Amino acid sequence: MATRRRTLLKVIVLGDSGVGKTSLMNQYVHNKFSQQYKATIGADFVTKELQIDDRLVTLQIWDTAGQERFQSLGVAFYRGADCCVLVYDVNHLKSFETLDNWHDEFLKQANPSNPSTFPFILLGNKVDVDGGNSRVVSEKKAKEWCASRGNMPYFETSAKEDYNVDVAFQCVAKLALENDQDQDLYFRSIPEPTPEPEQSRGGCAC
Ligand code: GDP
Ligand code: MG
Repeated sequence: MATRRRTLLKVIVLGDSGVGKTSLMNQYVHNKFSQQYKATIGADFVTKELQIDDRLVTLQIWDTAGQERFQSLGVAFYRGADCCVLVYDVNHLKSFETLDNWHDEFLKQANPSNPSTFPFILLGNKVDVDGGNSRVVSEKKAKEWCASRGNMPYFETSAKEDYNVDVAFQCVAKLALENDQDQDLYFRSIPEPTPEPEQSRGGCAC
């Protein structure tokens, strides 16, 4: 019986502190939202399994532990990423203006083999706030930025109201998988153990 392979995709989420990165991940993976601000979480990443077409994939989504305030995320955070999710807060201009820094920092640190085709996605979060009245970055402006950065996909989201979160991460997974398939699949997939027939085991214990 052939070994079924499950693909592991590493996704990292970047953006200024407070834009809702942790909340988006929590909403996507645990279907939970907390109003409380927690700058740090214990885990480096959370995982979610999903199916894309006929492929079982495990999304490994890496969150910062608040160090984004110092822009010192360390090389392990970026290493081997298959997709980079950039997040800003539509009610906070500065978080939009720093997107260029995050984008460039990612390319510098992750150093992907083909920077011009590496998949990024932009999320404009907190669209629920004040019924949209306190918004300072328009959808048009965000889409223009995406167009100037190689037609990056753009989603407007609310982690609080679970608006567009699944759809956005579905897109993330698709992009990551496409990028992964361009690379060496064999070394990047996790074999799922299948029972071996007795006779195929050799006599050697090592
Ligand atoms: P991070 O620093 O980027 O990880 O941001 P957090 O996920 O910790 O969120 C910062 C604050 O914004 C918290 O108080 C969240 O409850 C709040 N928040 C996050 N997403 C949303 C959202 O979509 N709508 C609203 N109204 N608040 C949000
Ligand atoms: Mg956070």
